[in-house]
Amino acid sequence: MCLGCRQRAGIADLVRVVVVTGASGPRIAVDTAKTMPGRGAWLHPMADCVSAAVRRHAFARALRSPGLVVDQSDLKEVLYTRSGDSTDESGPNGPEQVAEDMSTP
Ligand SMILES: [Zn+2]
Repeated sequence: MCLGCRQRAGIADLVRVVVVTGASGPRIAVDTAKTMPGRGAWLHPMADCVSAAVRRHAFARALRSPGLVVDQSDLKEVLYTRSGDSTDESGPNGPEQVAEDMSTP
């Protein structure tokens, strides 16, 4: 099931993310090979699903890691994992992603 839109999907259509514990606490990591140990969460490699999951704090819940801080930029590689259809070459920041990130304090 996709964490973002909560629809069921095949593994082939989803990407896996896991928690890695770094110096500054738990962080999200993209398991591109889908072989990393531990609890994983799945979502569509789409900006809408990523931002929906981030906004709902779905990662912390799904990964059982309450202190997990998910930065959407940690997940941008999710969106570029798929090299199949590269029709959209609009750059690192899609138009819909820019809006909320502008308000950095
Ligand atoms: Zn989705």
